[in-house]
Amino acid sequence: MTLQELMEEADRQGYRLIKKPLRTTLLACTCGCRQRAHRYSKDTVILVCKKCGRRVTGKNEMNARVNWNKEIKRIMDEEFVRGKEQ
Ligand SMILES: [Zn+2]
Repeated sequence: MTLQELMEEADRQGYRLIKKPLRTTLLACTCGCRQRAHRYSKDTVILVCKKCGRRVTGKNEMNARVNWNKEIKRIMDEEFVRGKEQ
């Protein structure tokens, strides 16, 4: 188990091993909105854009944040490529 996995596991179970590193800063949504609603269900965290309703899920808060940024970056890259093709 890597340190990252250990910390995620501890986080999931509600332990605080060490002071948390700076939280992953969430990128603004592709619609420009910076506010997200958090929905929690069993083993899943869902981030929902308050403006366009984009949803990104993760297995915990940290994972959802990482997935959110990945998703936004992926869409931005796609739009960038599409813009170049036109
Ligand atoms: Zn949005």
